[in-house]
Amino acid sequence: MAKRKASVDAGRCVACGECMNECPRSAIRVKKGIAAVVDTELCVGCALCAGSCPVGCIEIMEVV
Ligand code: SF4
Ligand code: SF4
Repeated sequence: MAKRKASVDAGRCVACGECMNECPRSAIRVKKGIAAVVDTELCVGCALCAGSCPVGCIEIMEVV
């Protein structure tokens, strides 16, 4: 069964940190104040981060 994971469009991320505050698994972090990065080992694809992103640059992708 496919799993879902968050994916950040780093080019559009403004590094605001909202996603980090929402994630229940601490799976998304803003690296070096530049862009958010997802730890796919921890991410459960709940989409809370995507809902919190003011610029809509987080997508939930199906992965195999
Ligand atoms: S989809 Fe859920 S678990 Fe994954 S990074 Fe976003 S808030 Fe965290
Ligand atoms: S909420 Fe969106 S813009 Fe803000 S750090 Fe996260 S991915 Fe980047």
